[in-house]
Amino acid sequence: MKKALIAPLLFIVFVGYASATRLTPINGVRTKSYKNHTRVIVETGSAIEFTQNRIINPHRLYFDLKNCMLQKKSAPSLPVENGILKQVRIAQFDRSTVRIVLDVQKLESFYAFALDNPHRLVIDVYDQKQTAPPVKSEEDISGPDIPAVKTIVIDPGHGGDDPGAVGPTGLMEKDIVLDVGKKLGDILASKQGIEVIYTRDKDVFIPLNERTEIANSQKADLFISVHANASPRRNAKGIETYFLNWTNDAEAMRVAARENKISFRKMEKMQGDLQMILQDLARKNKNEESMRLASSVQNSMVNTLKEDYGKVEDHGVKYAFFYVLVGAEMPSILVEISFISNREEEKRLSKDHYKDKLAEAIAQGINSYLTQTTLVVKKSQ
Ligand SMILES: [Zn+2]
Repeated sequence: MKKALIAPLLFIVFVGYASATRLTPINGVRTKSYKNHTRVIVETGSAIEFTQNRIINPHRLYFDLKNCMLQKKSAPSLPVENGILKQVRIAQFDRSTVRIVLDVQKLESFYAFALDNPHRLVIDVYDQKQTAPPVKSEEDISGPDIPAVKTIVIDPGHGGDDPGAVGPTGLMEKDIVLDVGKKLGDILASKQGIEVIYTRDKDVFIPLNERTEIANSQKADLFISVHANASPRRNAKGIETYFLNWTNDAEAMRVAARENKISFRKMEKMQGDLQMILQDLARKNKNEESMRLASSVQNSMVNTLKEDYGKVEDHGVKYAFFYVLVGAEMPSILVEISFISNREEEKRLSKDHYKDKLAEAIAQGINSYLTQTTLVVKKSQ
């Protein structure tokens, strides 16, 4: 009896002690106003890790500083009111996360980066579009560009005479992907203030090449094609996200052949003929950006669905030759949201809750793609 009581107590003390020793103190936040940008400086006791997010309505940026502890003397909010930022707020979000919120008045782009000597997190917020790297003041730094995404094309696959894949009880891919696509569009438009264009918003057939033409002619910033997967193996299930490239992976080619409505053999042959062209396409199609977008969306889908549906088979990011992605002049991906050919996943796809979760997850993945940055920090001598 006594032993049972003592053990959990010791555990709590140990955890408390261990985390207390590791948390980085956050000593305060200050701002500086410049002609067309505002700099927010967060004093950190040592190097830190952080994530960033942008939210519309009301417009704000927030940054979560991992393994940090806000020092008691820090003021909870700092008024700015300079036409770019309204105020900066800082709080202990949970036991080990400090959250900094920037309430925005006008924002076109922003950059966040860590500096050392002394350690600090710097956030530069601009009210004008920055085409060049941010102004380097006293520090020799380079911050990555946050793409100013305004328009996203959502492409629900198939439609009209083309039902796409059909599930064991007759559920049709064309209907499911239209539902998920519209839900995704609603979230992007209402919560993230993005202009959404659909290649189709009803049950009609649009030829594959016309779909990216819509995106190109509208000068869209991203192209998201939504599909449901199918396999002759009825137990095949899970989620995967594609971008356009040459592949010799048979499974990826099988998926592309089905979506392209050609045979596997023709797919193999065509790929061989087109390898050179594809290498050129890869450059034009912003492959690295597409891959980054694909991995952000894929991770978000897997992690979000896990919360409500337990284990989700994560097939990761793949690439193959999809007609529908050829010619896109912007980062473009094709998501296979689940296997409609699998009895269990077909049932899930028929439910609104599952489709809502998928749409939320894809939107969140797009959001983190738009805000994630790679830190490039050079030490000044
Ligand atoms: Zn499809």
